[in-house]
Amino acid sequence: MTDADVVEWLYERAAVGLPADADMGRMEKAVEAASLDVRRQVVEGLVQRTADRCAAACPGCGRRLLMHVRGRRRRVVTRCGPIRFRRDYGRCPACGRYSYPADVALGLHERAPASPVVQEICALETLAAPAGRKARDVRRLTGLEIDPSVMHREARRQGEAALALRDKDVAMAQTPKGVAELAASAAPGLPGEPFTLVIEIDAWNIRERDAWGRTAKLAARGEKPERWHWVYTATVFRLDQRGTTASGRPVISERGYVATRKGLDAFKQQLYAEALRRGLLQAAHVLILADGAVWIWDLAEDRFKGASQRVDLYHVEQHLCTLAADLHGGGTEAAREWVAPYRAWLTSRKDGALDVLRGLEGLRDAAQTLATQQRAALDREIGYFNKHKGRMDYKNAKKLGQPVGSGAIESTCSQYQRRFKLTGQFWSLAGDEAFLALDTLHRNERWHLLFPHDCD
Ligand SMILES: [Zn+2]
Repeated sequence: MTDADVVEWLYERAAVGLPADADMGRMEKAVEAASLDVRRQVVEGLVQRTADRCAAACPGCGRRLLMHVRGRRRRVVTRCGPIRFRRDYGRCPACGRYSYPADVALGLHERAPASPVVQEICALETLAAPAGRKARDVRRLTGLEIDPSVMHREARRQGEAALALRDKDVAMAQTPKGVAELAASAAPGLPGEPFTLVIEIDAWNIRERDAWGRTAKLAARGEKPERWHWVYTATVFRLDQRGTTASGRPVISERGYVATRKGLDAFKQQLYAEALRRGLLQAAHVLILADGAVWIWDLAEDRFKGASQRVDLYHVEQHLCTLAADLHGGGTEAAREWVAPYRAWLTSRKDGALDVLRGLEGLRDAAQTLATQQRAALDREIGYFNKHKGRMDYKNAKKLGQPVGSGAIESTCSQYQRRFKLTGQFWSLAGDEAFLALDTLHRNERWHLLFPHDCD
């Protein structure tokens, strides 16, 4: 039988049920449907062949297994529908482990009802939106009926696998050998061209199941709703990999991501591992960009000693604008006039932040007429500029083509939030961390580690 015979056979089959006025979409669906069961049988045949050829060896240590059951049946839902196959089950005399060597060879999870490709579909769709909303799209695109609860469970399973990979990186980052391995996985730079690695950090919050319905009540009592948790988030990229689109929009060709709700220490370790993968050790210069939050600078001092630090320019301007409103009234011409030179100094003068600081101090010392509140506002902002003056080298940054704002991390956070903060949605600790890990692995372009078939 030649390819042409197959084509003719499929053509006839697909054409049979098609009305004369069928559009192209219907034709595509008809070809899919006409070949579905044949494809299913082929997958089934290939799977059985691998199971039959599979050596009865322990997947852990390679010893020959003592067979317990021969030809035990397993049913798996594949991209083309459910298949059944038989494979052997045995115990390793050396390590005592029971296993199905064929399942391991096939890359099948022990208990998962779905094939790797179906698991991938579940994981991808569930990352885009909750399974309840995506099940219908899965049916549209694949013809597969997958219950939302199954989709959710399969995505969660992949999330657990993503967590394990993440933990592995973190563990590697704690030994010199592992650090070297992570560093070696960084994309090579151009020889003789030193590059800057930028790390942007921020946080957003996620709500978890237990607080649902209690949040408003707690807030009314002036209590912090306990079940809102910070998701610490970072993005890491090289300045030499930042370009612009044809329309002039800045884009970063390769970026690393970190997101966790497991606390600052976990975040710090994950960020360090990811930074190693993105060239931390090869970088000539490391720059940390963020808003003014104290924990970020503590983390920077602790884990990225020697890195330059920069406060997001927009946040600094916000501080000045708030002060202008306190001194001259919100939205007034006087406030705008007062703030304009300070804003300009920040980006146009070499020591612009110091000049702003001196200006504010001079104002405090000269003005007798300030109300108590205004004086407090002035003191507050003097304190702010004092603390961060060394993180405001905007003029130099612009000259070097470095970012002055933390826009990259802000857009990263809003992307995560679009999925993790849907109206009426709540998460459990274990569940949200697994999905965060899955989402992050996907963003980090390491999807193939979960789905090796994705490499082809
Ligand atoms: Zn063994």
